[in-house]
Amino acid sequence: MAQALADLGAKRDVPLSDLVSFRVGGPAACVLQPKGEAELCRVLDVCRAEHIPVVLLGNGTNVLPTDEGFCGLVLHMSGDDAAPVFEGERVTVGAGYSLTALAKESVQRGFMGLERLCGIPGTVGGAVAMNAGAYGGEIKSVLRRVRCYRDGAFAWEEAQLDRMGYRKSPYAWPETVVSAVGLNLLPDDGTAAETMADCMKKRREKQPLSLPSAGSTFKRPEGHFAGALIEGCGLKGCTIGGAQVSQLHAGFLVNKGGATAEDVEALMRHVQDVVYRETGVRLEPEVKRLEELVCIF
Ligand SMILES: Cc1cc2nc3c(=O)[nH]c(=O)nc-3n(C[C@H](O)[C@H](O)[C@H](O)COP(=O)(O)OP(=O)(O)OC[C@H]3O[C@@H](n4cnc5c(N)ncnc54)[C@H](O)[C@@H]3O)c2cc1C
Repeated sequence: MAQALADLGAKRDVPLSDLVSFRVGGPAACVLQPKGEAELCRVLDVCRAEHIPVVLLGNGTNVLPTDEGFCGLVLHMSGDDAAPVFEGERVTVGAGYSLTALAKESVQRGFMGLERLCGIPGTVGGAVAMNAGAYGGEIKSVLRRVRCYRDGAFAWEEAQLDRMGYRKSPYAWPETVVSAVGLNLLPDDGTAAETMADCMKKRREKQPLSLPSAGSTFKRPEGHFAGALIEGCGLKGCTIGGAQVSQLHAGFLVNKGGATAEDVEALMRHVQDVVYRETGVRLEPEVKRLEELVCIF
């Protein structure tokens, strides 16, 4: 590890299973939780100069690592160091802040726009990178501006909403690093708290929240629901090693205990093969593999 990263407080040999919600994955050589933009710029400069491979994670709730781990630096952008600042309906918040905490605070302060996203376990930055959405809401609909890394520095830019779609965004690593976002909320019309409670209740009832997962493993295919297709193929409860198609919601692959990353990979492949054979529909992963996120400047 470069001395400069050690000086910034990077930790060595951290299990990726501690950093992702699937709770699988081997060690990362080096992990750093950057404190502010100046430090982020310094770290990225060091990685560029030393050709250190880098991966960026938020809360790791949509990422699948490998059992071999990762021989490089994980930038872990998760934490509540940049709490939201509300100015009327406009809110500015750090990328590492919890999306669910932000949704709750917004509703408490009399605003709506995020209430359907409450319960998504990622960071604000991860939500913008994935254009996270649920129950008919998506972050895109309230996104106004994004502070991101371009050409060695951070700057605000108007959100490129026309480039955002279903789980698609121009603000995902390695294209850029998002350090903060600006949202335009709406005054609560009196329904926000009830809608939020209703969405949370649906999550508790329909999702296997007591087991590690990355949420919906596959994207919603055009004209179908991934969970319904998987269940229709009789795959509910299908198990490889410690990985299982959830008994509660077939769209979720879960770690029922002791799963390896390879168990999850093998189960994903099996589900894709069976669903394609039985229905002709190709399921595309929503979960990002850590290898896809490796960037060497
Ligand atoms: C139980 C459960 C329920 C879920 N329900 C939903 C749901 O209803 N709707 C939904 O959309 N998703 C859902 N998810 C998936 C996941 O929570 C979202 O995709 C979330 O937005 C990911 O945020 P994260 O901080 O965990 O990002 P990570 O998983 O850490 O990263 C995801 C991607 O975003 C990039 N990224 C993260 N932070 C930044 C940043 N600051 N700058 C640039 N790129 C960044 C990463 O590099 C990676 O490419 C669920 C997951 C779980 C475990």
